Amino acid sequence: MTRRYYAPDLPPSGGLVPLSDEEASHAARVMRAKVGDVITLFDGCGHESESTIVSIDKRKCAVEAAAAVAIDREPKCRTHLGIALPKPERCKEMIERLTELGVRRVTPLVCQRTQRPPTDSLLTKLRRIVIESSKQCERNVLMKIDTPTSMEAFLAEPHTGVRWIAHPDGRPIQSLAAEIDAATSATALVGPEGGFSDEEVHSAIESGYEQVGLGTRIYRVETAACVMATHLAR
Ligand code: SAM
Repeated sequence: MTRRYYAPDLPPSGGLVPLSDEEASHAARVMRAKVGDVITLFDGCGHESESTIVSIDKRKCAVEAAAAVAIDREPKCRTHLGIALPKPERCKEMIERLTELGVRRVTPLVCQRTQRPPTDSLLTKLRRIVIESSKQCERNVLMKIDTPTSMEAFLAEPHTGVRWIAHPDGRPIQSLAAEIDAATSATALVGPEGGFSDEEVHSAIESGYEQVGLGTRIYRVETAACVMATHLAR
């Protein structure tokens, strides 16, 4: 396994690629990379390229990239989660897990019981975690993290495929195996620590979402999101 670096502007036919300052610094300072090392570049849109470092110092790194190839490690079901994000320290680990599990997109939901919507600086950190986690798990497509969206605005979007709202009183997910097997796209909502309000649950049902139970115990938001992803993103 070669070391992986993120290069969003990977040229399709190959060529000389400068790494971003952040990636170059990581290669030089943390990984102690040197000229001649073979690394893998990925563009976050499904392509990767075997590449060789041709110059490197503490801040700059240039790489000769071979032609990019499309390598698909995505789950069959394109999964979009609307999540009322938990506290920042819990959020970071959740984003790492969801990236590994193959979730395609996360929308931070602002619900009636949301205590503190995520800040721009937290979102920047979470997007960086997606990149780091994608390097580690060899994922070539970056999980997208949207800007925070109200529940009302989210439900007004034209989502298709399986649409679920995680709720402890919902239909047990174990009984939905056939639906999951057939799904190629899914949108699922996970509520805040205080749960969705009755009004939010009602609006979701009106918008075509089905209430789905994830088990007999009540999970924290981050656990519920990962359980949902484990079932859907396969
Ligand atoms: N007392 C809250 C309630 O009754 O909804 C608990 C909220 S729970 C800490 C946070 C979110 O995780 C919930 O809004 C729900 O979306 C999801 N969740 C947690 N455990 C669940 C379960 N067993 N089944 C379905 N969803 C669950």
